[in-house]
Amino acid sequence: MAKTILICDDEPVIRMNLKAMLKEIGFDDVLECGDGKRAVEMALASFPDLAVLDVTMPEMDGLTAASEIRKKLKIPIMLLTNAHDAQTAKRAAECGIAAFLTKPLRQQDLIPAIELALAHTDEVEGLKEKIEDLKETIENRKMIEKAKGLLMERDRLSEADAYRTMQKMAMDKRKSLRQVADVILKG
Ligand SMILES: [Mg+2]
Repeated sequence: MAKTILICDDEPVIRMNLKAMLKEIGFDDVLECGDGKRAVEMALASFPDLAVLDVTMPEMDGLTAASEIRKKLKIPIMLLTNAHDAQTAKRAAECGIAAFLTKPLRQQDLIPAIELALAHTDEVEGLKEKIEDLKETIENRKMIEKAKGLLMERDRLSEADAYRTMQKMAMDKRKSLRQVADVILKG
């Protein structure tokens, strides 16, 4: 599974070093650019798996670019900084930055940061899917309960009979209980 990485720094030498390090650890597909605005365009056009952005850049800074990218694309983004400062860290946390890398960049820092960033997104994506599934299950149950209640009242059925009626409808019509509930609720 070849991963694509977008790198963005206004200093060509830093890009060159970073690219060389990435190639050495097996990332051959590297997109590069020198300003935040272009980084946003490139990210949205080519959906990289990860982005490494310099914080201080003339046109659009890395943090602004990162938050623009993450509005549309939930990829991990790492920031390159010259020095750690509280204000930048706060903004970074707000836009979901995966890691900070301090310049000069060292390969031994880069590798674990990339691995963690990629592992973390897989985990987060997995959790999001689970949450969506759970929401759907809860919503389905709610609707089924509501429809059952309606049948009990309308046809003066016991709870068990109302449920059995719905199960039979589902089987006869080859529909899910939720679909049957929707039909009942629509009247
Ligand atoms: Mg810079």
